Amino acid sequence: MRLQAVTKTYDNQTWALAGVNLNLRRGDFLFITGASGAGKSTLLKLLYGAEQPSAGRVYVAGYEVDRLQGDRLARFRRRIGVVFQDYKLIADRTIAENVAFVLQTQGRRQREIERRLLPTLRMVGLAHKADCRPHELSGGEQQRASIARAIVSTPPLLLADEPTGNLDFENAQQILSTLQNLNTYGATVIVTTHDRHLASLSNQPVMQLQQGRLFYVRK
Ligand code: ADP
Repeated sequence: MRLQAVTKTYDNQTWALAGVNLNLRRGDFLFITGASGAGKSTLLKLLYGAEQPSAGRVYVAGYEVDRLQGDRLARFRRRIGVVFQDYKLIADRTIAENVAFVLQTQGRRQREIERRLLPTLRMVGLAHKADCRPHELSGGEQQRASIARAIVSTPPLLLADEPTGNLDFENAQQILSTLQNLNTYGATVIVTTHDRHLASLSNQPVMQLQQGRLFYVRK
């Protein structure tokens, strides 16, 4: 994955990113820290093609992401697991249905969906909540459900935007170890957090965004 001299300004003239360069290899794990408003979400959005850079280039797994549109963009996005800050679970579907939905949109067979579903829910400790709806879960459980949804298709790239933002310390640690576990199976993982303490719990590389500029805190 490569960000090359990426600048992002929004319509209201906000500078979110300024001349950002980043190179990651398959299987890398990276924390990106930074205060609220530092540009963390923007950086992830550029990586999964939800925003376009104002200048510079974005490459992921051989795709020129900043030039993708329509079907090609949709196909690219299906290869990326994204954990959103606000979970984005579908309210009137069960946790199992929320997670299975990803595989259905990928056109997977029912048998394969069943084969993947339960092990993934077990991995995030939610097998016993499979038939609950999101509102019946705690914040931490909903966050874990959103992680299950992001990883159920074993994406080669996982982007997690403040996945521990709303959680207590114990839940945050659990989420972190789930993400690290995935990384040991070969997924490239980027985790953003405003909490530098969280990043310091592991020995993974840490970069910081400050006023739209990205630099290493720990390599
Ligand atoms: P972070 O994730 O670190 O909190 P963001 O990437 O969300 O930071 O935001 C970076 C800057 O860009 C902020 O000043 C924010 O207000 C601005 N911003 C983010 N999204 C938009 C948008 N859709 N329109 C206008 N400004 C935006």
